Amino acid sequence: MLGNFTYCNPTKLYFGKDALQNLPAELAKYGKKVVLVYGSGSIKKNGIYDAVTKILAEAGKDVAEIAGVMSNPTIHKLREGIAIARKHGADFILAVGGGSVIDYSKALSVSVNCDEDPWEKYFVRFEEPTCETIPVGTVLTMVGTGSEMNAGAVITYPEKKLKMGKVFADEKIMPRFSILNPVYTMTLPKYQMVAGIYDIFNHICEQYFSGTDDNTSDYLAEGLMRNVVEASRTAVKNPQDYEARSNLMWDATWALNTLIAKGKSTDWMVHMLGQAAGGVTNATHGMTLAAVSLPYYRFILKDGLPKFVRFAKVVWDVRPEGKTDEEIAKEGLEKMEDWMQQLGLVLHLKDLGATEDMLDDLVNGTLILTGGYRVLTKEEIREIFRRAM
Ligand code: NAP
Ligand code: FE
Repeated sequence: MLGNFTYCNPTKLYFGKDALQNLPAELAKYGKKVVLVYGSGSIKKNGIYDAVTKILAEAGKDVAEIAGVMSNPTIHKLREGIAIARKHGADFILAVGGGSVIDYSKALSVSVNCDEDPWEKYFVRFEEPTCETIPVGTVLTMVGTGSEMNAGAVITYPEKKLKMGKVFADEKIMPRFSILNPVYTMTLPKYQMVAGIYDIFNHICEQYFSGTDDNTSDYLAEGLMRNVVEASRTAVKNPQDYEARSNLMWDATWALNTLIAKGKSTDWMVHMLGQAAGGVTNATHGMTLAAVSLPYYRFILKDGLPKFVRFAKVVWDVRPEGKTDEEIAKEGLEKMEDWMQQLGLVLHLKDLGATEDMLDDLVNGTLILTGGYRVLTKEEIREIFRRAM
């Protein structure tokens, strides 16, 4: 039975090769003072920076830049950006980049007019903004997080070895619009491309592996998962394949714009384990998920057996004849592992710089959530990290 829910997603999407043509009309809706947020320079190499700044200039905007937003954006970089946005009197934030730049822009949006420390308020106490927020729009250049159409933001405090996410309740924090041109993603290095593909797949898993009911969301999830597997195989062979890259871009948005979470309890433990690993190692988000997910799913397989059997049959075409449910479920995860290896994902935390002496920090940095098939103890978390090494 579907649980009760409210669904509202106000982000307007422009998708396709000409999507940037819609930026002038969107910019016209907001004030003159724009803060342009971007990463470490990829948009300057591939021409997106020139195209966007030309449009901003033609629109008569007064632009301040926050450049150098790193992957796994830090609280220190956020505080630096807050000072820039305050000085500029920002009316609007334009994020041009991947999940890191977009998450950062949302965190900026809720912090510029706020007197309290954003780390404590949003990423320790998980509160909602009590100040006026600044609207955010995005031009997406990297596929994976779904940040272009959701209210999530993940920020890292390196000295505390903590990486924490907040999903804001108010849909005003979601991007007002997002521009999705699959061609932009074609300059991504393969490592980032496959990390993003795994991020998409795992977002879907986190919503799928909960509940035992017959739920519309699960059927949507299965369709998305099958397409991610299919399109990823093509994209790895030929990164310039527009069909595969555009399908992946659209899959990523739907994987985490909250639609397939509706009526479900959801289980975000792989993200909690992965974020803890990110807080300790600063490794690429999708790779941290790839390293912890199979050890986690194998650990909870018996607790959620019927769903793992369904996953094996529907997503991985495992034939059930003559096999026990446990054998079917395990075969599904083996097929998933084969696919992950074919993509070139990192499957061990030690290959991301983690060592056994980091186990305490890894365990302490993991938030324990309750929506899945098993509520983990700290000892079980330690064991999963051990197996993920
Ligand atoms: P990212 O950190 O935004 O970008 C990864 C790398 O790809 C950067 O080095 C970036 O370079 C480069 N890049 C981006 N677009 C490119 C392009 N078109 N061509 C060449 N290089 C390009 O990666 P991400 O996976 O999208 O974001 C990861 C962050 O999002 C993590 O902090 C993660 O925890 C968070 N996250 C958020 C959500 C959510 O719901 N909000 C969900 C999952 C994860 P530049 O720096 O030069 O741009
Ligand atoms: Fe993610």
